[in-house]
Amino acid sequence: MTWPSTQSICTSRSDAATSQGVKRILLIEDDNDIAALLLRHLTDSGSQVEHVASGESGLARIEAESWSLVILDLGLPGIDGIEVAAKIRQTCPSLPIMVVTARGSESERVSGLDAGADDYVIKPFSMLELVARVRAIFRRLDFQEAQEGNRALIAGDLKLDTQTHAVHINGKNIALTTREFGLLAEFVAHPGKVFRRGELLERVWGTQYEGYHHTVNTHINRLRTKIELDPHSPQYIQTVWGVGYKLKS
Ligand code: CA
Repeated sequence: MTWPSTQSICTSRSDAATSQGVKRILLIEDDNDIAALLLRHLTDSGSQVEHVASGESGLARIEAESWSLVILDLGLPGIDGIEVAAKIRQTCPSLPIMVVTARGSESERVSGLDAGADDYVIKPFSMLELVARVRAIFRRLDFQEAQEGNRALIAGDLKLDTQTHAVHINGKNIALTTREFGLLAEFVAHPGKVFRRGELLERVWGTQYEGYHHTVNTHINRLRTKIELDPHSPQYIQTVWGVGYKLKS
C-alpha cells in the first residue's frame, strides 16, 4: 500500500483517550480466535478496543484516528508486522506498540524491538500477564502526561502547550501566530469567562488604547478561520453581543 503522505493524526497521548479518559487500543491480529480473546479481556479491563486483521487496515486506522496503544501481531497477511511497526514509528514516534507474536527467538525479539516495539509478548501468553503489561504501559503514559500537563492548557478538545506554543484540536496540529496563541490561551485558561475587547488588548497586547479594539476583532476572526470548522458559526470562541468574546464552556 502507499503510506498516505498527509500529516498523520497521531499526536499526544491524552488526545487518544476518550472524553471519559478511556484508553483506546488498536489490535492488529489476523487470528480471529486470539483477537476475540484479547478484545474481551482488554475491554473487561476498561479499554476501548478496535480489531483489524491486516497491517494495511491497521495503518489506515492509525492515519484516521488517535490511539493510546497498538497491539501488533507480526505474522500478518500482506505487510509484515515488523514493517508495520517501523511505519508506525516513522509516523507516530510516541505511539506505544506492543508486539504479540509466536516469533520468540532472540533474534526475532531483537528485530521486533529494533523496529520500534515498546514491549514484546510471546504466544502462547497468559491473558492476565498481557493485561497487566498493558496496564503498565498506560501507567507510564499517565505519568508522562501528568508531567506534560504542568505546561499544558486544556479545555474540551483544545490543547495548548504554553512552552512550545503548539496547538492541538482533536489531535490535529494548528499553526497560530503569537497573538492568536495569546488570545486562545486566555480563553482556554478561563473557559466561559466573557472578555471585553479592552481586557483582551491589555492581556495579549499589553495596551488598553481604545482605538485598537478593531485589532482584537481582526485577530479573533483570523483565529476562527484556523480553529473553527465553520468560522461563521463558531463552536469555540463565541461573540457575546455588546460585551466581547468567550470560549464556549
Ligand atoms: Ca498471525
